[in-house]
Amino acid sequence: MEFSQGRYQIGGVDALQIAERFGAPVYVYDAATMKRQYARMTKAFGKVKRLRINYACKALTNVNVLRIFRELGSGLDTVSVQEVELGLLAGFDPHDILYTPNCVSLEEVTEAVEKGVRINIDNIEILEQFGAKHPEVPVCIRLNPHIMAGGNSKISVGHIDSKFGISIHQVPHVLKVVAALGLKIEGLHMHTGSDIYDAEVFLRAVEILLNAAGDFPDLDYLDFGSGFKVPYKDGGIATDIEDLGDRLGDRFNEFCAEYGRDLELMFEPGKFLVSEAGFFLVRTNVVKTTTASVFAGVDSGLNHLIRPMFYDAYHHITNISNPEGKPRIYNVVGYICETDTFGVNRRLSEVREGDILSMANAGAYSFMMASNYNSRFRPAEVLVLDGEAHLIRRRETMEDLLGTQVQLDALRREAVV
Ligand SMILES: *Cc1c(COP(=O)(O)O)cnc(C)c1O
Repeated sequence: MEFSQGRYQIGGVDALQIAERFGAPVYVYDAATMKRQYARMTKAFGKVKRLRINYACKALTNVNVLRIFRELGSGLDTVSVQEVELGLLAGFDPHDILYTPNCVSLEEVTEAVEKGVRINIDNIEILEQFGAKHPEVPVCIRLNPHIMAGGNSKISVGHIDSKFGISIHQVPHVLKVVAALGLKIEGLHMHTGSDIYDAEVFLRAVEILLNAAGDFPDLDYLDFGSGFKVPYKDGGIATDIEDLGDRLGDRFNEFCAEYGRDLELMFEPGKFLVSEAGFFLVRTNVVKTTTASVFAGVDSGLNHLIRPMFYDAYHHITNISNPEGKPRIYNVVGYICETDTFGVNRRLSEVREGDILSMANAGAYSFMMASNYNSRFRPAEVLVLDGEAHLIRRRETMEDLLGTQVQLDALRREAVV
């Protein structure tokens, strides 16, 4: 969000006008930021001959966003067969879609095979069943290097007790299955979680995967997952992607030389590509002063942005309606009948009833984790593209809430009596 001539802008469009035009609450995404982040990532790993970025679309699957990434040349990382379908609908070539499920049935994996996408398998039992059923289909396997990345236990998935991936210690077992069934392993994959503070730790996991790669002669790609951290506040910790690209690029090229073939280097960032592109605009309903605090109560809650409550995530809040107002300290809370605090002790320019507050980093896992809790509607989504705001999902209505409910005649009769 830029501040210019006393107004806040998203992608060059006045943010307050977006809220007025489309109503609040509303998610607003800036396509230019997505493009910038994609370019940054490709540039950071520019040393590598064959680089592929698969946008991890669980972060934000609006098909217009998927199309932006397709046009940029990105592939897609998907975790469900529904995401695969959305990707195909957005025009992705099936070969550019990697399907990385966890704990799904063999039936769902088979559905993905039928759609022609690349398959990533993360447990030996499924690998055996899969191999017996589709011995001709090349697969990727997800290994767990048991590296503890980052500090948030809810989003770290690489540790020893994690449900994700095949333990690196089970590679000998995997090799037996591969030999017995004549499988072709075309890729190795790891994804250590969502909090990489330290390139050093990431490179240690990379070493473990490279070490395993020597045992697989048919590889075409190595996928190092994601977990790139974006800043949430000024000066906040972020992955130094340029430094990582520089060091990993050298190491990867060295490995390819040893291996005897130029493998494709894959990453699958979600947050890195879309988090900073999104802003969630909400309207202040009440300003309530209690003995200890001043609360700004807004027309949203954990039904629309659960990350602060779920992960203790920090989303920077700005009062875009009163940029020149005198700063005061607020607790920004939602309207859900449940504790739903967006921010504690936030310094905002004076908040008045009706003011629009903007929450930053709302591109990833914000709309996607929204629900109808308290029977509230999910908000609209707006995409700013080349200096123009477009509605890309309308706000829900009562019909949407009732659309999937089946009303029983029997109960209806009783209710009338
Ligand atoms: C969620 C997920 C990602 C994306 O993680 P970010 O932290 O959003 O970059 C990548 N790969 C897999 C397998 C995932 O489950």
